[in-house]
Amino acid sequence: MYCAVYPEQFGLYVRFAIVMEENIKRAAEIIRKSKHLIALTGAGISVESGIPDFRSSGGLWEKYDPMVYAHIDSFRRSPEMVWEMIFEMVAMTKQAKPNPAHHALAELEKMGLLKAVITQNIDNLHQEAGSVNVIEYHGNAHVLECLRCSAKYSVDEYPNDGTIPKCRSCNEILKPGVVFFGEVIPGDALMESQMLAGSSDAILVVGTSAVVYPASNIPFIAKQNRGSVIEMNLEHTGLTGSITDVFIEGSAGITLPKLVEEVRALLQ
Ligand code: NAD
Repeated sequence: MYCAVYPEQFGLYVRFAIVMEENIKRAAEIIRKSKHLIALTGAGISVESGIPDFRSSGGLWEKYDPMVYAHIDSFRRSPEMVWEMIFEMVAMTKQAKPNPAHHALAELEKMGLLKAVITQNIDNLHQEAGSVNVIEYHGNAHVLECLRCSAKYSVDEYPNDGTIPKCRSCNEILKPGVVFFGEVIPGDALMESQMLAGSSDAILVVGTSAVVYPASNIPFIAKQNRGSVIEMNLEHTGLTGSITDVFIEGSAGITLPKLVEEVRALLQ
């Protein structure tokens, strides 16, 4: 089937493809030369796995305002209300499978080129794709924790059927092991990420709007260490015009595998 396009649209498309190829080549060269490459990922990398980011239309976050439903004050005030959203979030993350972008990062680690993935995501998809060194900056939705006695459980120990899970030791309503707005970042994840960024010479920043602090500071720490910043996103962010060295525009599920292919070709 042919799809009619205006010549000027076709010209724009060709130019977009050429720029993308050039930027992938530049990024691959940086990765080939790097000795301490790390990655920072955000919700965008999991959009192609069916988990919406904060901007996706028609997704979970259109129904539940994250600043209300993902805020610790709301959970403390009304855990039953927040659990309405959590049941949907858990069902969605359990169903999701890693996409080619997650697999590409796992591949870079296997090739000995990527030291660690620092992820803001809570969906466990990097680990499912085979990444080993994953720092979960905002926790993991597959864990449940008790705010009263600190007991921890796997979500699989409870049915996701609308019954609010309670702690088996103290009967408190459990909270998913994710960092809500208004909560602090787990100390070990914070320290490890700062150390990794502080000793990196290149960072891949994939699918994050880079507005949620302190995760948004990680690329700046890498840059202070003279690390090159390679950004992969559908659109420009606050990093793009300031510290980004190479911007690769497009869906991470397409651009990341292309980048890994290019790195592999350079190494042959
Ligand atoms: P965000 O929603 O603020 O930004 C997502 C970014 O990804 C945007 O810049 C968007 O342009 C880009 N993007 C969307 N689809 C993409 C694709 N296919 N390829 C490349 N880029 C794409 O997300 P954020 O910066 O991660 O910050 C929001 C917070 O939301 C994080 O703390 C994260 O914990 C949480 N969150 C996590 C998940 C998840 O675990 N999958 C989902 C939603 C929100």
